[in-house]
Amino acid sequence: MKTKSGDFVLPGDALGVTEEFVPADWTYEDEGKIRSLVAGTVSVDNKNKRISIIPKTSYPSVLKNGMVVFGQISEVRGQRALMKIERAKDTDRGLTTSFSGGIHISQADKGYVSKLTDEFRIGDLVEAKVTKVIGLDNVDLTTAENELGVIKAMCTNCRHFMKQLSKNEAICPNCGRKEKRKLSSNYGG
Ligand SMILES: [Zn+2]
Repeated sequence: MKTKSGDFVLPGDALGVTEEFVPADWTYEDEGKIRSLVAGTVSVDNKNKRISIIPKTSYPSVLKNGMVVFGQISEVRGQRALMKIERAKDTDRGLTTSFSGGIHISQADKGYVSKLTDEFRIGDLVEAKVTKVIGLDNVDLTTAENELGVIKAMCTNCRHFMKQLSKNEAICPNCGRKEKRKLSSNYGG
């Protein structure tokens, strides 16, 4: 498993090991191995120990580290909220593939979070930042910045969207229920 610059690879092909190289553009890490996300040409940067891929065709709307995305919370488990990513910020077009993102409890807010259900609930619309591309359709996300987090909270009682009440609380205009959330500073925008 030794690839060199100029080699043509397909999605999933092993390129190197993470002990030796850092996975860069269009690659992902899989149990210590670096694999290609796309069909393309390998580019090895031996000085900085980075392996990246130059895609054969352009994939303009595929997610990368640092991108801000919008989506809807589909599940909130003990330590992890799952989000269906609908689009990337600053682009009009939707994503060509459907991506799912995970927000670990440690990445939900700046401070300590004891209950993830005080941060997100199913149906909430969320703005989040990609921290890691895990596979072809899966990324890790963070909302631990002021402008990231819930931009529309869905009432768990009646499914109406809620109004912001305070920094981390929203109120339902339909049933009057108050609920906690990790609200974005752009709430409702
Ligand atoms: Zn309600």
